Amino acid sequence: MGEKQLKRRQKYKRTPMPTTTGEKRIYSKILDFLLPKFCVHCGKYGHYLCQECYNQINFVKTHLCPYCRRSSVGGLTHPGCLTKYAINGIYSAAFYKGPIRSLIKTLKYHPFPFRVYEEIEIILKRYFTDQERFFPKEAVIIPIPMHPEKKKKRKFNQSQLIANTLQSIWKNPLQDEILIRTRRGRVQAGLSRRQRYQNVRGLFQIHPQKRKLVEGNSFILVDDIVTSGATLKWCAFLLKKNRAGKVWGVTLARD
Ligand SMILES: [Zn+2]
Ligand SMILES: [Zn+2]
Repeated sequence: MGEKQLKRRQKYKRTPMPTTTGEKRIYSKILDFLLPKFCVHCGKYGHYLCQECYNQINFVKTHLCPYCRRSSVGGLTHPGCLTKYAINGIYSAAFYKGPIRSLIKTLKYHPFPFRVYEEIEIILKRYFTDQERFFPKEAVIIPIPMHPEKKKKRKFNQSQLIANTLQSIWKNPLQDEILIRTRRGRVQAGLSRRQRYQNVRGLFQIHPQKRKLVEGNSFILVDDIVTSGATLKWCAFLLKKNRAGKVWGVTLARD
């Protein structure tokens, strides 16, 4: 990492989280003192992600078309691969392995998830601030919803946190009430690609009272990880069935 990049990273380190109030920041300082941070990937003392592990992150340089999986600028769907209700592209920051995998996994069970999330925020800001964007300013950001019961248990939806960060970078509008989760999904691990598609149907729906917000608008669906793309593609399908314009997907990680 060059000196310039390092400086930029340090600058972002001082940037407060948009969801963090001043009180929370003071709380965070006290916690730093009482509960020292250890790197989630290598265990080194100091930060939830140490500099060495940060340097190991595999950022995505070649994006892929979500349908044919061949390279495509910005992860945009090739014109030849694009059908009426298809997603217009899926754009991910990093590969789901190494330190990124450790961060996402730790976030889910850590007693102080918002402190761990600060590291993810640095990564997102670092990656997405300088990247060329392929969607307009007015495209509405929608976090992929979590089942309310699961959210109640975990206290937060990581897609929502990522969506908030992207909103603060891009200044696009954000709407988290359009898509709703209708039932709990089975764990997708171990399912074939076809089973995943069948599994995701019926998991989501457009909020009946928010349909008018969909028509004619473009959307950016935000999730933490994309594997088969079944969830993002299905949500894009639902939005387009309700007369949405273009729909893209953006994720922190991809497999
Ligand atoms: Zn480390
Ligand atoms: Zn393609």
